[in-house]
Formats: sequence, C-alpha cells, structure tokens
Amino acid sequence: MTSRPDHDKVWKGPLGALHPAGLARPRIGIGGISIESSTFSPHVSGDEAFTIRTGADLLAYYPFLAEGEELREAADWVPLTHGRSLPGGAVDPQTYARMKSAIVDGIRAHGPFDGFFFDIHGAMSVVGMDDAEGDLAEAVRDALGPDTLVSTSMDLHGNVSDALFDAVDLLTCYRMAPHEDWLNTKQRAVHNLLERLRGPAGSDPDARRPLKAWVRVPVLLPGEKTSTRLEPARGLYAAVPDVEELEGVTDAAVWVGYAWADEPRCHATVIVTGDDRDVVAREAERLARGYWDARADFAFVGPTATLDEALDAALAAGAPRPYVISDSGDNPTAGGAGDVSWSLGRLLERADLVDPARTVIAASVFDPDAVKAARTAGAGATVTVEVGGRVDAGPRGPVAVTGEVFSITEGDPVAGTQIVIRSGAVHAIVTERRKPFHHLDDFRMLGLDPHAADILIVKIGYLEPELYDLARGWALALTPGGVDQDLLRLGHSRLRPGTYPFDVTDEEPDLTALVTRRRGAEARS
Ligand SMILES: [Zn+2]
Repeated sequence: MTSRPDHDKVWKGPLGALHPAGLARPRIGIGGISIESSTFSPHVSGDEAFTIRTGADLLAYYPFLAEGEELREAADWVPLTHGRSLPGGAVDPQTYARMKSAIVDGIRAHGPFDGFFFDIHGAMSVVGMDDAEGDLAEAVRDALGPDTLVSTSMDLHGNVSDALFDAVDLLTCYRMAPHEDWLNTKQRAVHNLLERLRGPAGSDPDARRPLKAWVRVPVLLPGEKTSTRLEPARGLYAAVPDVEELEGVTDAAVWVGYAWADEPRCHATVIVTGDDRDVVAREAERLARGYWDARADFAFVGPTATLDEALDAALAAGAPRPYVISDSGDNPTAGGAGDVSWSLGRLLERADLVDPARTVIAASVFDPDAVKAARTAGAGATVTVEVGGRVDAGPRGPVAVTGEVFSITEGDPVAGTQIVIRSGAVHAIVTERRKPFHHLDDFRMLGLDPHAADILIVKIGYLEPELYDLARGWALALTPGGVDQDLLRLGHSRLRPGTYPFDVTDEEPDLTALVTRRRGAEARS
C-alpha cells in the first residue's frame, strides 16, 4: 500500500498481517487531555472549559474505531477518560488534578494493558507547573507499568519535553496547519501502535518498543509563520511522509512548539521512530537541519499591519470587499482570553466608521454582563453597555458601546446568548461565553451577512477555510493580547538559551539525534 493520492493526508492503508509472534488481540487503553493554553493570558481554564468523554462516548470520538473498522476489530479497546477544551489560559491546578486522577485511576482499575493510546495536544499549561504533559505522561507510565507500549498523538503546536519523551514509546503530530489532518494523525498513532504489537516483537515487551531519534531544534515561531500552506513549512512538512516510508522507519514528526507559553520545553522538535538506528538518527537530523536552516525564512502567512493600517487599507476607495482583518492578539483558538476590548474600542473611536452606510462586523468579545444588559433592553432598544476588558484587562479595560441592539440570539452551545450592537457602521458581536468565529453560519445566525459586509474583523490568526474563501482583501493585524503575534514584545524569560529569534547567537546548535529505546537507556547516535 504505497499509493499516496493525497500526499498531505497520507493514510497508511490496512494493517500488515499478524506475525506469529505478535499479539492477535491486544488490550489497549485510551486517555488524555487536550488543551492549548497561553501563560500570557490571564484567563484560567477550569472545569467548565473541558468536555470530558468516557467509555463509549470516548470511543465514538474516533470514527476510525467505529464498530466494523479494521483498527477497532484488531484490539480490545478500553476507553478511559479524555478531557478536551478550546484553547485558553493556563489550567486550574485542581481541574488538572481531577482529570489526571480519572485517567490514572482508570488505568489502575482496568489494566493491565498491552498498549495505550495517549491522546494529548501538548501545549497544556497548568498554573504552577512547567511541564504539564510531562507530569501526566509520567503518571500514566507509572500506572501502566514499564511494559505497556504507549503511542502519543499530538498537535504540531505541542511541546516535547524530556519527561514526555522518556515516558512514552511512539510520538507523532499533525503535518498540516490548519490541522486538516487531525483525525488522520490520531488514526496513524493507533495504526503504529497496533503494527508494533502485531509485529515480530509484539509479545515481547522488551523488543516491541521502537528506537526514538529526537532532536531539539532551538527555534520557536508562531503558528501564523509556520502554516503548511506556504514555504518553508510546506516543503519541510511535505518531506515528513517520505521519511516515514523508508525501510526501518515507523513514523516521523516535526513539532513547531507553542510560542505563547514561557516554559523551557517550548521549541521545535523532530522525532523519527523505527528499528534502524542509523536511518532514524540520520533522518531526524536531516529534518532538524532543514528546519534550523530555514528559521529566518518563515514569514507571516499574510500581510501584517497595525489595526489602523489595516482599517485604512480596507476603507480606501476601491478596496476589495469583504475585507477580512485578523485581530490576532486575542485569538481564542490560540489561547487568547477572548474578551480583549482594545480593537473594538479603536473601531468606535474612528470618525470614518460613524456613518452607518458602511458595514463593519466585529467578532467578538465575550461578556456575560453586557449580554444580559442588552438582552434585558431588548432588540431594537438603544443601549450603552460596558464591554470586555475584564478577564484580560491588559491592553484596555471595558469599552462603552452605545448603539441599537441589532439582534439577540439564544442558545448557542458554545457562545450561549449572543447579541449584536450596531453603533454607526460597527456591528459589535458580544457573546455570553468565549467562542471562535470560523464559519459563515456563525455570523448568519446573528442576522449578519458576511458577504455583504465591507469589513469583517475576527479574532483569529491565519484564516480558517470559509473565511479564507470569503476574503477578497486580508490583513493580519498585530493587535495586543495574550497571544500577541509580535512574540518579542511578550517578554519571555524562561526559554532555553539560544532559542531563535529570542536569543540570536552565532553559535551553531547541536542537532545530533538522541537515540533511545527505553526509559533511562539513552545513547548518542
Ligand atoms: Zn495547533
């Protein structure tokens, strides 16, 4: 099965034949926690932020493990607990402790396991901790015991710390940003786990682990500079499946790392797993070298501007419309609080946005009190409400919005109640809870027509597909907030020395692969 109709979405095909020494029907547990959390955002992600899946619900989360699917029938699956949240601020330590206990207690109650599918994002920060996934992975390993083969699926914006690397056996991550291959990646992690357990060393806990070749690449870039739609990330990531196809290689993966946490583990990483020591080391070093050499070539995925520059361009005579402006500093899907009011305040101050002949849609600020006040006043009423700047008051406190309640929309599962207040040209969307605006229907359900707007301002970085297709003009506004794209003004102080572009030196980094099979059994290639 080497045909690859879609290089980027490569799927490995059916499982290989069961080896006589392999495990015909291994027991495999499933668990993990998935969140991307900014340590620069004052938002704290508590219990309410997480969707907890257990048992049959958790198994149903993975379509490739549906009844009748090959991967489902190849093992006895024991879905334990998985917590998933939208990106946000660091996790409340008690929330983390509860989820961790549920996973660890589940392993102790339902084990032993031959394999474990460890499904994490990799950029979880927990208040007071430096390496949350490392802590979780160590706890999972302690509960599983040394013999269970652990396969880990991650976001390419996750971080691979020493502790995480040591505690698990297989690690892989997305190969596309935006993450159109998120499900393929989880499927690949499961596929790889099963292949190892079904293979010639499958029943021998000492031999079934692959070699892991690991290279730390001292580069930390924002996702908006590393989209795989554009070079150099496009070419670097296109090479990854080719490495995976080499004889002696099980998987290859490249992590960009997470730029909005001030932790020593935040940097790019390359890992190649397999059985041929020379090949996995050589290929990991080659991918790492490519990333390092390209470090200065990564550029923002679109034209960057200040908010006022972007608005000037969008309002210029003959400007293409709709003109989409990414209000990137408070992007909730990167971990922004979602209530930064700075950009809304600036819109309301502009004299050229007073004339209601224009239509500017501003999405969004979450503020339950403002929603309540506008809803009480009712649609069509003129109100003055204080909006946003409460959770993240860093860039600006609440902004007074005076205008007509344009619409009230109840019952969105993510946002709760949503209101639109029209003030001059500006249609300000205020939601009860944090919500990303990625789809045209997110606007339409509020009575707004994105195609008819002159300007659409969205808290987002690179544009998700529907907005990408909508935009006739686009600027990435470098606005302030917890996920400020201008990384150097955030003031990181705890990254490893020599991390580009925070600490630029003439010294060449050591890009030699560390190759290891088991915990503690490390050797330089
Ligand atoms: Zn990501």
